[in-house]
Amino acid sequence: MAISEIREVAARFERIGAHSHIRGLGLDENLKARDVADGLVGQKKAREAAGVIVRLIKSGKMAGRGILIAGPPGTGKTAIAVAISKELGKDIPFVHVSASEFYSSEMKKTEALIQTVRKAIGVRIRETRVVLEGEVVGLDYNMVPNPYNPTQKIPESATLTLSTTDEKKTFSVSGRLALQFLYQGIEVGDVIVIDKETGRIAKLGKSRKAEKKYDIGEVDYVDVPSGRVEKEKEFTYVVTLHDLDEANARRGSIFSIFSPPSREIDNEVRDAVDEQVKRWVEEGRAELVPGVLFIDETHLMDIELFTFMNRAMESEMAPIIILASNRGFAKIRGTDIVAPHGIPLDLLDRLLIITTEPYSKDEIRKILEIRAAESGIMLSSDALEKLTQLGVENSLRYAVQLLAPAYEYAKLRNAGKVEVEDVERAAQLFVDVSQSSAYLKKWEEKMLAM
Ligand code: ATP
Repeated sequence: MAISEIREVAARFERIGAHSHIRGLGLDENLKARDVADGLVGQKKAREAAGVIVRLIKSGKMAGRGILIAGPPGTGKTAIAVAISKELGKDIPFVHVSASEFYSSEMKKTEALIQTVRKAIGVRIRETRVVLEGEVVGLDYNMVPNPYNPTQKIPESATLTLSTTDEKKTFSVSGRLALQFLYQGIEVGDVIVIDKETGRIAKLGKSRKAEKKYDIGEVDYVDVPSGRVEKEKEFTYVVTLHDLDEANARRGSIFSIFSPPSREIDNEVRDAVDEQVKRWVEEGRAELVPGVLFIDETHLMDIELFTFMNRAMESEMAPIIILASNRGFAKIRGTDIVAPHGIPLDLLDRLLIITTEPYSKDEIRKILEIRAAESGIMLSSDALEKLTQLGVENSLRYAVQLLAPAYEYAKLRNAGKVEVEDVERAAQLFVDVSQSSAYLKKWEEKMLAM
């Protein structure tokens, strides 16, 4: 716990808030889907197929292959991809892009694809660092007026005494660290860990000895750490190959701070990173953790991107590539060839295909319930019914998206619970995609007639 609290390092993977309730595929030991489990509802065939794929990936039998999830919009394709990544590991990278994002004015499309692929490959780094750990038995601040605001006082430094079962040690602490102590409300009786290198502090809880001084209901009690105050701890964290590419590219340039964040990266930079990572792996200091790259709207990829992706899949450093499509037959972009999902046949041959189906009313209701709970939103049963109806008539995504605005209306009424009126108010202001495009179409027709 201490380690994960102190580090916060490199947890920069795209956080996919809308799917935060999904913790896995919700399968039993025989890979059968439970009705509702791990935050997932229904879509059983797809989940069971995904379960087999997870096993294939874990036993190394998916090398050089990919996954295609085909189904109508809003049938949980993204949700299944997120669940697959959760099954593969808690800290593996998950990257979600729409194929349209590969086309930008900032860089070549193939460069955008390479960067995206490298964002989906993690390197788990193990590091031994020196930390200070102990119970705070003395903490004195040396307060001085804030030079920017003399009415305020800030710590210039502090004296900290940490104690373990074997040792008691006093340190003088810099003003910056002392400020951290104040912000985090560290006080005598707390058991803390300080990462000496980064200056990060984690509070582990109150020492048992402090029992008399604090309200027992509010604090976690921990044993006073044993051993020495200064000790070595192992830290592990995951960075992506793209993080390393960027860090390496910056180092090479004296204009680094002025260069825009998204730009092309030289191949030499990437080669150097690959070499470095290989060395770390050989030395046992790091391991490669392939993540999941989920590409939505696959039909927008053109033949050149597909060719590149084929090659990326064959490479020894490849993420798990999951494509999603809601198209049937379509022209492969950049050619006149019509193919299933607009995907070239040589790539299709490498893909295991999962299909998703539209949700029933009960499933939509259950998903809404889970999302509301995940966001801490209370719904009256009528409001839930209303939202479910909107989900059936429009789309699940629309109904889920109405949760937050409806809750805002409930709060305006000083109510803790969302009622039908809040849902109706939100639904009047926000429209579903099909409504918004119909609206624009109507205007287009008007303009043409003029
Ligand atoms: P697609 O990728 O097919 O468009 P999606 O996964 O993006 O679908 P949405 O329609 O956006 O699905 O789903 C709306 C919300 O419902 C999201 O928060 C998603 O996580 C959730 N959701 C979708 N399917 C399920 C499911 N089977 N179980 C639980 N939650 C789901």
